[in-house]
Amino acid sequence: MFHVEQKYSVVVIGGGHAGVEAVSILDQFSIATALITLPNVPIGSAPCNPSVGGVGKGQVVRELDALGGIMPYLSDLSGIQYRTLNESKGLAVQSTRVQIDKDKYAEFAGSYVRNLKHVKVIEGRLNSISKSDNLFKLHISENVTILAEKVIITAGTFLGGKLHQGEQVSFGGRVGTEAVSHLKDIFSEIKYNPKRFKTGTPARLFKGSVDTSVMIEQPSDSSTFNFSHSRLDGARNLLQVSCYLTRTNANTLKFIRDNKERSPMYNGQINGVGARYCPSIEDKAYRYPDKNDHHVFVEPEGLDCNTYYPSGISSSLPVDVQDSFLRSISGFENCEIQQYGYAVEYDVVDTQTLKHTLESKDVQGLYFAGQLNGTSGYEEAAGQGFIAGANAALMLLGKEPLVLNRNNSYIGVMIDDLVTMNRDEPYRLFTARAENRLNLREDNVYTRLGPIRLSFGLQNSIDIFIREYLNQFDSLLKFVTHFQINRHDQLISELAIERIENLPETMKLAELLKQSWLDPVDVLRRTFEIYGFDVSRFMVQQLAIEAKYFGYIQRLDEQNAKLVKIDNKKIQWEALIDSKNISFECRQRIKKVQPTTFGQLKRIEGIRPATLAVVAGDAY
Ligand SMILES: Cc1cc2nc3c(=O)[nH]c(=O)nc-3n(C[C@H](O)[C@H](O)[C@H](O)COP(=O)(O)OP(=O)(O)OC[C@H]3O[C@@H](n4cnc5c(N)ncnc54)[C@H](O)[C@@H]3O)c2cc1C
Repeated sequence: MFHVEQKYSVVVIGGGHAGVEAVSILDQFSIATALITLPNVPIGSAPCNPSVGGVGKGQVVRELDALGGIMPYLSDLSGIQYRTLNESKGLAVQSTRVQIDKDKYAEFAGSYVRNLKHVKVIEGRLNSISKSDNLFKLHISENVTILAEKVIITAGTFLGGKLHQGEQVSFGGRVGTEAVSHLKDIFSEIKYNPKRFKTGTPARLFKGSVDTSVMIEQPSDSSTFNFSHSRLDGARNLLQVSCYLTRTNANTLKFIRDNKERSPMYNGQINGVGARYCPSIEDKAYRYPDKNDHHVFVEPEGLDCNTYYPSGISSSLPVDVQDSFLRSISGFENCEIQQYGYAVEYDVVDTQTLKHTLESKDVQGLYFAGQLNGTSGYEEAAGQGFIAGANAALMLLGKEPLVLNRNNSYIGVMIDDLVTMNRDEPYRLFTARAENRLNLREDNVYTRLGPIRLSFGLQNSIDIFIREYLNQFDSLLKFVTHFQINRHDQLISELAIERIENLPETMKLAELLKQSWLDPVDVLRRTFEIYGFDVSRFMVQQLAIEAKYFGYIQRLDEQNAKLVKIDNKKIQWEALIDSKNISFECRQRIKKVQPTTFGQLKRIEGIRPATLAVVAGDAY
């Protein structure tokens, strides 16, 4: 068989959510890129929950939109149910969640990637990598060798993937896929701290066999904003459908508890650690022996797809136990199963060996992103893919790296957590991980991250959108802040504000928006209408929120600025590892993470207060 050798500036391994974002931004920078991905795994496929967004994750998707990512657009093209989560709670924790048609998402993702001008899709399996003379040599199946200046690995749950379904064990990254070697066998130069994580998925049920009439219906919310800036007008691309809510009961949990010794997670068959915040039904049954009532969200997997995804009951129990516990749930009595639930164990990278750019500290030009970095979720994977792809491109172009921080984005929070903290379980984003969550809202994403996107110097539709958004926002913010009204003005009567006697004689529009008994979004929307301003619903919301919480946000900004100043203080980690005033253990931890700021040092697990005191004393 003849041997083929090709050369690219960047090679991305894996066409999952991380890989798709990586190649998308590389293409925007016109970097010659190859995407190598397994032949039988559709690009952008969703092996688990058919949804994008959720608490903390919806923010990441909007952050990707502001930075020029593709997940928001693909989600809107394939969205079949939209909801705003935490609507009754504070603005800082409200997030968008979109149910996607999983087949359409993968179709759109595949055709988007295959049509990228600078990206060549190569179906094959990466078997090994070596590096010499600053060039990576990648050995791909079918006798192909590819040379690359930079490599981004986004192999998801595939490296050393092992599947469990009761006593049945097989090898692969997910059901029906081929087995892939362990990380250490693919690249011997990687310092491999052999961690194994685990995730799982529930059975898929045929739609016709499920009785949704006994469940609570959750229709799509037409007022929830689309994810992409190009669709903020609110028009949906596909027909909108409902999800449903049912519950487990004492019988369901009894089947699971009675079969504990047959559970791979509890009988020692699975060694990998699962996500605390995404537990299987076995976890719930054994950890909370007194609780039998757990939510099960019944989610359509697509418009033409004839299955439901029952969220909340992922399981790797044997199929006969799955049959029994599923049929005990209201509405599932006669359910027929298209695919039984299973768990997958896989290798994860020790992310403390990565920089904030997601480049390896040990092997220059090698980046890691996605589930392989020990995160769980499509959005976390996509956020990392974007950062790795952008940094590979910026490095090749000799530009400043892209490092997001804890104060400007959830993506920044996630990556800072990944590279500074030692983790022994899958990482999932949620709003409590961010210190500055009142500022990391979905509504302010274009003013928050738009300037960073513009700094890339690209000229795509998102760049035009952001420039226009920032200009209009600035002038309208001035209007809202300075516009003076009198309570006898025609505006007030046209706004039909009741309890007008509660208002002062004269006030700024911003003051009016702060009145607790008024809905600021509604008042501002009507004000703009009355004055004939053409303002998008999305921007009205941001302006109203900024005006209403101005004082509060400003105080937080001031407090944060002080903390950021302390956190951003540069430190010389090389000097610290020689310091006699720092314990041996702390020096070892510092050597591993190589923190360059006081904040990064502070977040390393196991760093003692005495060490921080020594460093603070030297730094200030
Ligand atoms: C069974 C299961 C259950 C899950 N449950 C959950 C859950 O409950 N909650 C949750 O948030 N997330 C869950 N996930 C995780 C979710 O799938 C990931 O978060 C997301 O898909 C990660 O994206 P990624 O791009 O990192 O990897 P993936 O989407 O897994 O993509 C990896 C890509 O790498 C390619 N690849 C792998 N090895 C090679 C190689 N050697 N050569 C070439 N190509 C290669 C594959 O073809 C694939 O395209 C689950 C995943 C599985 C498989």
